[in-house]
Amino acid sequence: MRIILLGPPGAGKGTVSNLLKNHDGSVHISTGDILRNAVKEGTPLGQKAKEYMDRGDLVPDSLIIDMMEERLKEPDCQKGFMFDGFPRTIPQAEALGELLSKIGMKLDVVINLDIGKDVVLDRLTTRRTCSNASCQAIYNVKSMPPKQEGICDKCGSPVIQRSDETEEAILNRLETYNNQTAPLIDYYDQKGMLKSTAALSSDEVVKDILAAL
Ligand code: ADP
Ligand code: ZN
Repeated sequence: MRIILLGPPGAGKGTVSNLLKNHDGSVHISTGDILRNAVKEGTPLGQKAKEYMDRGDLVPDSLIIDMMEERLKEPDCQKGFMFDGFPRTIPQAEALGELLSKIGMKLDVVINLDIGKDVVLDRLTTRRTCSNASCQAIYNVKSMPPKQEGICDKCGSPVIQRSDETEEAILNRLETYNNQTAPLIDYYDQKGMLKSTAALSSDEVVKDILAAL
């Protein structure tokens, strides 16, 4: 499958991608994960991106577009992909369109995870993430805590709160989403590519996605 997962932070894009991971070999491509790895490794991209990310602002389009052009060239994308966190702006969406037509690929569908602000705010403040860059399992202190407090079930690394998951940065991320990313809903709707789901559980979202393919 070749899909874009659209939706506010905390809508469950990462969880849904994980559930679909073994479906047909499509790779989960999260720009947030790629950027956090780059920050951790201190690459030139990471050094440029860090301050934007910590504030909850978007990283400039040109950096993201170059990064994704490289990522799409990797052979694992041939089987399909789930984009999580990309595109995030209209210029990114247009660049993606050009990139895909250049390599002769077409998107199947854009899934809009249509979830209320109160729900995402609650989810984000209680979200915890595995600190191991190659794991990044997601937990929730209320609804899905790790078996042993603060320790990842999958790899044993510390489970942490992300540096952009303070209340202030979260509110900023939600505002950024409304201003810069939400316009993509209309953008893809007008192209006839949008499918919205208001499902609250990730299992139901997965069903809706598979039905839309
Ligand atoms: P969220 O949980 O807010 O969806 P992500 O993990 O997708 O967070 O992204 C974390 C941060 O990385 C964002 O707040 C932003 O600074 C940066 N980022 C990720 N993807 C993009 C993108 N496509 N364009 C610009 N910035 C991005
Ligand atoms: Zn882990």
